[in-house]
Amino acid sequence: MGKIYAVGIGPGCSAMMTKEAEQVLRESDVIAGYRAYVDLVKKEYADKEFFVNEMRGEAERCRKCVELAQSGKTVALICSGDAGIYGMASLLLETAEQEGFEDVEVIPGVTAASSGAALLGAPIGHDTCLISLSDLLTPWELIEKRLQSAAEGDFCIVLYNPGSKKSRDCLPRAAEILMRSLSPETPCGLVRNIGREGTSKKLCALRELSEQEADMFTTVFIGNSATRIVNGRMVTPRGYRL
Ligand code: SAH
Repeated sequence: MGKIYAVGIGPGCSAMMTKEAEQVLRESDVIAGYRAYVDLVKKEYADKEFFVNEMRGEAERCRKCVELAQSGKTVALICSGDAGIYGMASLLLETAEQEGFEDVEVIPGVTAASSGAALLGAPIGHDTCLISLSDLLTPWELIEKRLQSAAEGDFCIVLYNPGSKKSRDCLPRAAEILMRSLSPETPCGLVRNIGREGTSKKLCALRELSEQEADMFTTVFIGNSATRIVNGRMVTPRGYRL
């Protein structure tokens, strides 16, 4: 019997991949994943066998990983960022259980909330909610409820999947819900292509968020009531006295 690792490879560059993830990839026979992520590591692990497929092929990808491991291979199923944060770790564990396969290990990675936060300054220095705006697997009503609850709770908020070709209006809709409870002047930050070519970042106020461009390579940060701009950086204080 082989083994399956769900590996978070970080935002995109090898410098932001953990040593543990690197070692697991080196020791695996097969690297499996969504094509765009496998392309990011293919050059460095050219001697491996690859299993790639497209978005929406997630269930098939997990079944294939189990099949390969059952045939004796060590398989690394790679995800961007952290494999357990809007990644494949949960589906892989569920699929493995269904197939009666137990040897699955999850290897953590640097998620967009932390790599993006570092680019902006320290925007999630206090209690934070991560919310995905993708309604592919989650009803929009539930996303709205979570946005509203996070805003009412004065959490910092990190929005994953803030836009795609199909759903351009989810960020403006989210901004409108957040403004029911938050000041329109709440500092916000957008980061794009973290750890990849063309990294960019932008700060704005919540009232301007709906006009911002956000695609599937963007992560959006919304401050809490104490968040400030400090020397051009977005900072959420922990409460220390200066
Ligand atoms: N498992 C990933 C998240 C996958 S969901 C993680 O832990 O980071 C996909 C969303 O993650 C994107 O729409 C975007 O919001 C965010 N994201 C992932 N990689 C990113 C990167 N390199 N730059 C900016 N945002 C990124």
